[in-house]
Amino acid sequence: MLSKKINDAINEQINWEFWSGYLYLAMSNHFESVGRKGIASWYRIQFKEEFDHALIFINYLNARGGKVELSPIAEVPQSWDSPLQAFAHTLEHEQQVTRRIHELYALAEAEHDFATRQMLNWFVAEQVEEEETAQDIIDNLTLVGEDGTGIFQIDTELGQRTYNVPSPLAGK
Ligand code: MG
Repeated sequence: MLSKKINDAINEQINWEFWSGYLYLAMSNHFESVGRKGIASWYRIQFKEEFDHALIFINYLNARGGKVELSPIAEVPQSWDSPLQAFAHTLEHEQQVTRRIHELYALAEAEHDFATRQMLNWFVAEQVEEEETAQDIIDNLTLVGEDGTGIFQIDTELGQRTYNVPSPLAGK
């Protein structure tokens, strides 16, 4: 049985994952509207992954006999000055998500909830990847600067990203 503290913290995290999805969907829409179709497509996949993260937590609460409570999703920004600004925002946001996952992990340890701790291991590893990916894209964008050909090439490369179902959701 889950403690109320853990149940509440996971519900908060579910809202946070949905908010992340909203943020990336807004970024996708923004870049679609300014003709950066590759970046728009990259962010649309990012949006799907965040909703997947929410579903992983929802499945976990259901499996443990917890109670899912969906709360309203707060407003997100709708436009960015440049791809570099959006990816810097993405990195900053992911760093914040990492801190939240670590806090949840610490709470699970304090509560001696080893099943929750185990489930969170996937998210701990996922956050390392999220931060690394955002940093790599920032590095590439910084390298090409304002160069139109360079940005075009990055846009094309980002457009090649494909969506994969996260392993905890496979077959669910
Ligand atoms: Mg996430």
